[in-house]
Order: sequence, then structure tokens, then C-alpha cells
Amino acid sequence: MSEYVIPVPPIVTLPVVGTEELYPVRRVYCIGRNYAAHAIEMGHDPDREPPFFFQKNPNNLDPSGDFPYPPQSSDVHHEAEMMVALKSGGTNIPLDQALDHVYGYGLSLDMTRRDLQGEQKKMGRPWEIGKAFERSAPCGPIYPAASIGHPDQGRISLTVNGDTRQDGDLNQMIWKVPEMISYLSEFFELAAGDIIQTGTPAGVGAIERGDVMKMEIDGVGKIEIRVV
Ligand code: MN
Repeated sequence: MSEYVIPVPPIVTLPVVGTEELYPVRRVYCIGRNYAAHAIEMGHDPDREPPFFFQKNPNNLDPSGDFPYPPQSSDVHHEAEMMVALKSGGTNIPLDQALDHVYGYGLSLDMTRRDLQGEQKKMGRPWEIGKAFERSAPCGPIYPAASIGHPDQGRISLTVNGDTRQDGDLNQMIWKVPEMISYLSEFFELAAGDIIQTGTPAGVGAIERGDVMKMEIDGVGKIEIRVV
């Protein structure tokens, strides 16, 4: 057995509702502008153009319930998103088999340093500095599809300090979960442990230290995140 020249980085895991066993994370894919009303609020045409994706790092996922306000930004936004957790994958997955690869679902936030993302967009540069920072994806546990099914409708909402900021329905997704899986698998080899953040409804906005974000998806669950 080989030794390692440096300490082995920990495997990123998420809790799974109903079991003591953990879900190990391999990759995190995020879809952009997947709700028409959010595309419009960001200044884009909501027509059904091909989807586009960016990635976060596995260890950006954080089920601790705390979101530390990140450095180098004064305009950090919440984006409430359902996440999909795969149990298997492959390439060129047919649409009608896509859901067979889903282990479960969860609630997550795609926290965004909007000021930095805006600068990168203007310069045609990659988005990591705005999207893939430390603990940028606060989330809850995974709910197995075996327990909750495959949610394709239901209210998805987020409040900040009790005020409703985001209020949409999963059925407003431009690209549905099976379509996202099938499309991604044409460009990447998907695998067990891959998470997809499925986009955010309208109403994204800034948060401040001390704020409490509560997110809920009907039929899935709820999470509460403190900005610290
Ligand atoms: Mn997003």
C-alpha cells in the first residue's frame, strides 16, 4: 500500500435523511439562468437557448448551517436551488433513462459574489472568483428519491429575516432535471457522487452578516442558514 507525500484531503460528504450513512461528493455542476423570470431579472432573453453550466468545488458544499460572509465582495447574493445527487452516470445518457441515475435531492444555495461575477462577465472571463469560493454552497442533507420520488413541481422559496425574497415553482425550470442530466452527459462523463445545482427562481438579492436565510421546497424539505 502506497503512502502519500502530503496529508490526504478529506472526502466531502453530505448527510442522508433516514440513515447514518453519508453521500460522498465527486463534482458539483451548476446550471445558469434556468428560470425565465430570473434570466429576465439578470438582463437576458429567457428563450430556450442551450443550457450552460459552470462548476463549484465539492468542498464548497457546506451543510453546517452557517455561511461566512466571504472576503473581496460587498454584494453577495443568495440563489436558492434544488440540488440533484447522482448514484451513477455515464456518457450520452438517454432522456428516458436520466432519472435512473438519481440517488436523491436536496436544498442548496448558489451563493454568488455578484460584483466580482459582473466584472468577470464584462471581461469575458471565467466565473470561479464569483461562484466557487469557500463555503459558497450552503446546503441541507440528501433526501433519497426512494423516499420522496422525483420532484418536478412544487414551491421553491427563500426568505431573509422573514421577508420573502424568492418564490417560484420547480415546474418553471426551463431545462428539466432529466434534460440537464442527459445534456451534461454529452459533454462530461457523469458518475456517482456528482451533484447538480438546478438553477434559481427570480428574486436573487444581497445578504448581510447577521441575516437568516430560510429556504423551502414543497415535498422535499427546508433549511436555515445564518450569515456570519
Ligand atoms: Mn445559480
